[in-house]
Amino acid sequence: MVCEYCGATPPSGKSCRDLYDNLAFYTLSTGDDFFIHQLIVDAYGVQHAHGGSKPIAVAFALIGLYLFAQMHYTGREVQRVHMRLGEQKQDYPAFMLPKSRGPITAAHVLEAPEGLERDRRIKEWAKSTWEAFIGNQPQVVEVLIKNNIIK
Ligand SMILES: [Zn+2]
Repeated sequence: MVCEYCGATPPSGKSCRDLYDNLAFYTLSTGDDFFIHQLIVDAYGVQHAHGGSKPIAVAFALIGLYLFAQMHYTGREVQRVHMRLGEQKQDYPAFMLPKSRGPITAAHVLEAPEGLERDRRIKEWAKSTWEAFIGNQPQVVEVLIKNNIIK
C-alpha cells in the first residue's frame, strides 16, 4: 500500500514505519562520527508530518534538514543544535506541509547496499526532502537567528 504521507510503496505486509525502523537499526549500528542517523530521523520526520504533528517536532526536523542541506552541518552538529534549542521553552511557528514530500523515501534508501552507497543515498534523501520543504526556509532561519545559532 502506498504511504499517504511520503508516497513510498513498502513491500506487502510492511509499513513505512517498518522501513524506517529497519534503516534506524542500520544507522545506529554504524557508530559513525558524522552521525548519519540524525538525517534519517529528520527526513522521515518531515515526510510523515501531518496537521496533528507537534510544532516542535516539525521544527526540529526542518531545522536539521536545513542545517545539513544548506549549512553543511554534520548530523552530530545538528544534534547539538537540537539540544540547545530544547533548553529553552519556546513556541515554534506553523510550517507549511507540501503535498509532494520529495522523490526519495525510506524505501529507496533501503534498496542501496549498506555502507558508502547507502550513506550517500541517505544524504540525497535529506537534501531532496529539504528541497520539497524549502518554502519553510524563512521560518526556519528566523528560529535559528532568534536562538543565536546562525547570524
Ligand atoms: Zn511513508
